[in-house]
Amino acid sequence: MVLSKKGLSINPSPTLSIDAKAKKMRADGIDVIGFGAGEPDFDTPEHVKKAAIAAIEAGFTKYTPASGTLELKQAICDKLKTENGLEYTPANIIVSNGAKHSLVNAFQAICNPGDEVIIPGPYWVSYPEMVKLVDAVPVIVNTTEESGFKFTVEQLRQALTEKTKAIVLNSPCNPTGMVYTKDELAAIADLAVNHGIFVISDEIYEKLIYDNYTHVSIASINDKIKEQTIIVNGMSKAYAMTGWRIGYTASNAQIAKIMANIQSHATSNPNSIAQKAALAAIRGPQDVIGTMVGEFVRRRDYMVERINAMPGLSCVKPNGAFYVLMNISKIFGKSFKGTTITNSDVFAELLLEHAKVALVPGSGFSIDTHVRLSYATSLNNITEGLNRIEAFLHDMHE
Ligand SMILES: *Cc1c(COP(=O)(O)O)cnc(C)c1O
Repeated sequence: MVLSKKGLSINPSPTLSIDAKAKKMRADGIDVIGFGAGEPDFDTPEHVKKAAIAAIEAGFTKYTPASGTLELKQAICDKLKTENGLEYTPANIIVSNGAKHSLVNAFQAICNPGDEVIIPGPYWVSYPEMVKLVDAVPVIVNTTEESGFKFTVEQLRQALTEKTKAIVLNSPCNPTGMVYTKDELAAIADLAVNHGIFVISDEIYEKLIYDNYTHVSIASINDKIKEQTIIVNGMSKAYAMTGWRIGYTASNAQIAKIMANIQSHATSNPNSIAQKAALAAIRGPQDVIGTMVGEFVRRRDYMVERINAMPGLSCVKPNGAFYVLMNISKIFGKSFKGTTITNSDVFAELLLEHAKVALVPGSGFSIDTHVRLSYATSLNNITEGLNRIEAFLHDMHE
């Protein structure tokens, strides 16, 4: 029987599959250090859990409006106003089952078959697959370590065609940790406004930002770009709420309406209890984030220093999110137990098998010379994992 060609063309998520492999090894009693995690290792804040329990006890367990409750939408509007300087009303907000779902809604709302969506690489693994799901075409614009993994407006201009529908922005970026400045965003906004293309701005790591960097939403540059931007954000990363599945978009009201209609048929409302939990997270004390950020900085500094001290390895210091993109190109051509390291997949497999360290090959992010290490794991694990990588390097042959 013939199955969906589109369905068959979709790749599995490589980050989730490495994680699954490591979890299986751990279940088999093998002591694996996991650098694959795409989620904070902290617990969901206590007051957020309590709000969910209270919601259950109060019987808040039925359908809500398909695009989210009015009180949560209002809380999101208030957050966007005070934190991002953006004026929205609940008519602009759609609450979905995680930011991933919000992104899928966004592509569905704006893309027609054959439209091109520019995705800067290294990119988060799901963007190209999401674009393919709506019969649009991902156009990858690769950036390099030399440019701090930032694309230039000139690069963007060269990628434009009359079919360009949107560009995906992800700042702070997974996997690079790069953060765009306000001036850089203003230049991108100019280009997008002049050429009439949408910006899908994935701001999920907004609060995980370090050093003297601050988050700026491109929508706040001016009213024109705001009209063309779909902001995507959610609870997962800032509040350690990955399992709760609440994300949201802020966009112009027409696009919001389309997404609401699509969602009303696909999933109906996001979980009612999780919406109450999200409300508590947004309205409640924010000091939990500061604690998490302080810990991430400590781990990042340690990891970056260790990696750059190892012969053959290097990395640039990320300014946001919780990943380090480690350059392994200098060890290409060397071998380990008879296998020559030729790309990021081979390296990741050898490391998992022989050093019992799980990390994510860069091939899935469109950068085969690098691998991604998450520091959303304890300093003890980071120390042990890096010790193992060091020992692995020591046992390689020319
Ligand atoms: C984790 C992540 C998301 C998805 O978050 P959910 O709200 O859990 O769906 C979206 N974008 C990026 C870049 C991410 O790393």
